[in-house]
Amino acid sequence: MCCQRLARRGGTRLNAGMTSSHSSTSPRIAVVTGANKGIGFHVARKLGARGVHVLVGSRDSGRGETAVAMLRRDGVTADVLVLDVTAPDSIADAVASVKSKHGRLDVLVNNAGIISGNAAPTALALDDLRKVYETNVFGVVAATNAFLPLLRLSDAPRIVNVSSGLGSIATMTDPSSAYYGLTAAAYQTSKTALDAFTVMYAKELRDTPFKVNAICPGFRATDLAGPGVNASHGATDPAEGADIVVRMALLGADGPTGAFFDSSGTLRPW
Ligand code: NAP
Repeated sequence: MCCQRLARRGGTRLNAGMTSSHSSTSPRIAVVTGANKGIGFHVARKLGARGVHVLVGSRDSGRGETAVAMLRRDGVTADVLVLDVTAPDSIADAVASVKSKHGRLDVLVNNAGIISGNAAPTALALDDLRKVYETNVFGVVAATNAFLPLLRLSDAPRIVNVSSGLGSIATMTDPSSAYYGLTAAAYQTSKTALDAFTVMYAKELRDTPFKVNAICPGFRATDLAGPGVNASHGATDPAEGADIVVRMALLGADGPTGAFFDSSGTLRPW
């Protein structure tokens, strides 16, 4: 079954009335990688507002503690989860911690991501390519596979991969796209690879309760977007970019899998 047919199960636009996966009395447990700032922080806050117990992934414990203190002040149930997605020991420790404290995982948001310049393929330094892929691709696969046994213990496991429209081959090959001329080869192709993994995980897990989807949060004013990048450049509030992540994290059993949605909830081509 191809990804388009998987996606079509949910239609071309997310149904606002689509059921949420909340079914049991105990709070759902979510891990959000790279949640100490940017879009991930807002995902943590908004999941928490929906009653989810959020484990705030942060590769630096101090930055994670600061974020958790802010979330708790907002009434969110949150704990730090020290997690560097490029470090196997860190991933193993994080999985062991979630297992011993919670015994299962309901939601994994693969949000941590980096960018490294705008070099076109012909000018690309392989070290930059490797660095970006370590976090944006290998880190996602490593974290996903490590958390999979705990996700399998959930009645409604959800994996949300925070991708980017910049990785869409449909966009890269569309001369009418505003991003047609963009040449951030390492970052863009890392998200293309992430999209392909999203499809492949969804296909492999299609006869299970899992939902595996990718989203683009839109162009948001964060450190990744660049210093001083703001609304005047078209980069808007990262909190708004978190909404689609939360919707995909709490999808009901009737929701799509193997699909790619933009921040408005519209199904996008890969
Ligand atoms: P951001 O503010 O720079 O946040 C990135 C987060 O990832 C930070 O918490 C960072 O931690 C963490 N991180 C980086 N490397 C990590 C690693 N090895 N292990 C664990 N965490 C790591 O960027 P953002 O804009 O919120 O980006 C979040 C996601 O959205 C990324 O996947 C990005 O590609 C995607 N996205 C962003 C935009 C946009 O316009 N902002 C558009 C499309 C997609 P530190 O604080 O320790 O560095």
